[in-house]
Amino acid sequence: MSSPATGFCLRGVCVEYGASAALREVDLEIEPGEVVAFVGPSGAGKSTALGLCNGMVCPTSGTVRLDGEDLCGLPAARLRALRSRIGLIPQELGLVGNLRVSQNVLAGRLGRRGALAGLRPLIHARRGELTEVLEILDRLGIGEKLFHRVDTLSGGERQRVAIARALYQEAGVLLADEPLSALDPARARETLTLLLAVAREEGLTLILSLHDIDLARELVGRLVGLRAGRVVFDRRREDVTDDDLRHLYQLEGDERVG
Ligand code: ADP
Repeated sequence: MSSPATGFCLRGVCVEYGASAALREVDLEIEPGEVVAFVGPSGAGKSTALGLCNGMVCPTSGTVRLDGEDLCGLPAARLRALRSRIGLIPQELGLVGNLRVSQNVLAGRLGRRGALAGLRPLIHARRGELTEVLEILDRLGIGEKLFHRVDTLSGGERQRVAIARALYQEAGVLLADEPLSALDPARARETLTLLLAVAREEGLTLILSLHDIDLARELVGRLVGLRAGRVVFDRRREDVTDDDLRHLYQLEGDERVG
């Protein structure tokens, strides 16, 4: 059983790095159990937006609330507790190649135990813990890889291990940064379909950044288009127009000419 899904509220969020802004005046509401993809060109602010959602990035101005709590105004212990409800699948996956699949998945609960207690399952997993990990891997179609070293797996299998680790964490929210970037088109479609099915079955809030706009438009319910740090559209997928996309990906020079 997962912990309750959680919702986000961003109000007037700016993120500045020196003189340049990664996000400008972003307002966004994401309901518990919703599935949202950030789309847009490279450098648009998609990863920064995801970073805000787990408190890794704090706004220069504005607020980011998770179930009403200001993620950047919390004591460290409370932030840790909230983060244990947020499963992050980073772009580079964050797996340990020379450890087994089981150990990488068991690491999903490191954050919610003390450091030493958290390490115990990685050294000596109990039967019940392994059974739970196996059930998740089976569901993702890689049960037979339980004791394989991660560095012997294909890109698609590694992606599933990272998803399994987030599910074992029993988070209410999954954040996935470009989860399809290392996969061929067939594997990308399969993996996104799987992620969406898992989110639906578990009632998770799922927030992704995706650069495959066609796949996002075909499969993800709500698309938030980011360009130069601003939200340029926020629509149900069926309402996203070709014009929206042309504007989203238009080169800066084209805009000056047009
Ligand atoms: P995307 O994920 O859409 O490619 P990012 O959120 O990674 O975009 O970056 C948005 C902008 O913010 C880019 O111009 C990037 O160079 C800048 N940026 C992101 N993180 C940092 C940082 N830690 N320091 C300085 N600039 C950053």
